Amino acid sequence: MDPIRIGIVGMGKIARDQHLPAIRGDAAFSLAATVSPVADQGVDGAPHLPSLDALLAQGPAVDAIALCTPPQVRYDLAAQALARGIHVFLEKPPGATLAEVDALEACAARTGASLFAAWHSRFAAGVAPARAWLAERQIESVSIVWREDVRVWHPGQAWIWEPGGLGVFDPGINALSIATHILPRPFYLRAGTLLIPANRAAPIAADLSFCDTAGAEIHMDLDWRQTGAQSWDIIVETDAGTCKLSRGGAVLTLPSGAEHKEDREYPGLYARFATLIHSGRSDVDTSPLKLVADAFLRARRDTVEPFND
Ligand code: NAP
Repeated sequence: MDPIRIGIVGMGKIARDQHLPAIRGDAAFSLAATVSPVADQGVDGAPHLPSLDALLAQGPAVDAIALCTPPQVRYDLAAQALARGIHVFLEKPPGATLAEVDALEACAARTGASLFAAWHSRFAAGVAPARAWLAERQIESVSIVWREDVRVWHPGQAWIWEPGGLGVFDPGINALSIATHILPRPFYLRAGTLLIPANRAAPIAADLSFCDTAGAEIHMDLDWRQTGAQSWDIIVETDAGTCKLSRGGAVLTLPSGAEHKEDREYPGLYARFATLIHSGRSDVDTSPLKLVADAFLRARRDTVEPFND
């Protein structure tokens, strides 16, 4: 089978750190082009174009694109590609609104292109075994603690603080992508507080109380003001003991002991994307984005001191 010719659109941090090595390491894909407005963001071995319009007008031909731009500009790019039958990989979050993601899914169904709403944290090494272990347990309570230093992880990313950029939910949605995948029952928001810096449009911290459909409480503590040790932990108390996912899902600790396997998140995502393309299917799960949208609908907003990079 010929490799899928793929273009990466949005050559920022995640494209360089993860997409390029995952594509280069997967024989199912060949890197056909890179796209972003800055001329020196290209890489050796593939042409670099300033916009998706330019790529579609001038070539080289692509079968698929990976959209690694900020979420606010993703709909127009995805819609343009899908309308031409080009398969689309959407970095997380899949869009700036839920309705636009629905519209993209309908467009993919019309044109026969595959649309993949990728949730990289679901491919972290501990997540699949945690899901399998929890499927047979009674969930008593869940604690999600996602505390990191925004100055370390998102320096100068102005878009992340703008409407549609999600603020602290940009990493927090990764925790929700894991929780919605491993917990055996759906859950929903009951109450919460968003802390929003006076000079920004998006929260820097959030405290959220969810409940699953059997009444188990799920507490989420998100904070971007963390310095020193960082936490990306999900702790599930069950009738058979504690299941802890730490380091963003990489390390799983069960009552029987801890497991840490090699990081395969982006290789796993690309393997899934290739399977979807070859089988003519899409995979668009918006459940993590729904919970974030609900936080913006349902939580109290408190203004806190201005944040400057
Ligand atoms: P970033 O470093 O700001 O990169 C975004 C890139 O997209 C920049 O090169 C930007 O160019 C380019 N861009 C903006 N508008 C464009 C357009 N219309 N056409 C083509 N390129 C365009 O952001 P990032 O950290 O890589 O994050 C991108 C997405 O990946 C976000 O949704 C984020 O949640 C997700 N993600 C990030 C990480 C991470 O660790 N950073 C991890 C997983 C997922 P300019 O610089 O010229 O604006």
